Amino acid sequence: MNMKVMNVPASPPAADPLDTLFDTLFRPMNALGVYGRTGAYESVVEALAALISSKRETGTEVFRFPPVMSRAHLERHGYLKSFPNLLGCVSCLDGGEAEIRASADKHLGGGDWTADLQTADLVLTPAACYPVYPIAAARGAVPGEGYRFDVACDCFRREPSRNLDRLQSFRMREYVCIGTPEQVSAFRERWIVKATALADELGLTYTVETASDPFFGRVGQIMAFSQLEAALKFELLVPLRGAAAGTACMSFNYHREHFGTTWDLRHEDGEPAHTGCVAFGMDRLAVALFATHGAEIADWPESVRSALRL
Ligand code: AMP
Ligand code: ZN
Repeated sequence: MNMKVMNVPASPPAADPLDTLFDTLFRPMNALGVYGRTGAYESVVEALAALISSKRETGTEVFRFPPVMSRAHLERHGYLKSFPNLLGCVSCLDGGEAEIRASADKHLGGGDWTADLQTADLVLTPAACYPVYPIAAARGAVPGEGYRFDVACDCFRREPSRNLDRLQSFRMREYVCIGTPEQVSAFRERWIVKATALADELGLTYTVETASDPFFGRVGQIMAFSQLEAALKFELLVPLRGAAAGTACMSFNYHREHFGTTWDLRHEDGEPAHTGCVAFGMDRLAVALFATHGAEIADWPESVRSALRL
């Protein structure tokens, strides 16, 4: 049991083995998990993006999404049931000039201007693939060969942490498949093979394991259990802290007909489409590369630098 011990002075946060990399990778921006990125770090993220693009399957359509999306769409996705604790919602000052000025001036007088904020019709996008399902659904019946998409987005999840591999604002790249159960299962199996080969090229140590999403609350525990039991999610874990549990740098997800039903995304015969995605955590992969090969890119193994053209 996780009991809170009272009357004991708080100990300083335990040092994390990744902390020594902070100055090489990031600059503080006055918020946990929200960092300015150095040129060296960004050169690795860009190189990773190019390497992942080079593995794109033919017939894949490319979209890049903004860091915000429709609140109504995210509500329809069921996000509030599964991860309400992780969601960030946009809020703004609304009204005429006098009202907005009065609210903003509260700050100058030492008051709380945020009390006047109105919830907007936008949320911060929590995963790169969410916006693609309504786009596909708007086209009508899913074609017999299915769809394959390449999507990317700056994502937000409200999970502030001191750990360099757990950010609130991070980049996600995904390949998405929409089709029959057979097409989606084959897609996921292909991508587990392709993605582990990519991790090999990058010289990363990893395991691929069944996993569950961090569903919220007690009901969430049941959802997580059935997800694990049906092996709907696999993660590629890279051990960044010795023998401790690895960090999930990629995930391989099968949503069954969840998004097909939600978005009325159907085949010609009316059956809901199945969907799946492979997600690459761009920031986590970059952190994993520095943690594995060292702070100096010039000292990385030749094979890794040549795979990344660095
Ligand atoms: P998920 O949708 O949870 O499977 O996330 C897809 C990928 O995004 C994960 O495998 C991670 O690599 C990355 N990711 C998820 N959450 C975070 C986070 N808080 N900070 C950095 N990367 C993350
Ligand atoms: Zn996805």
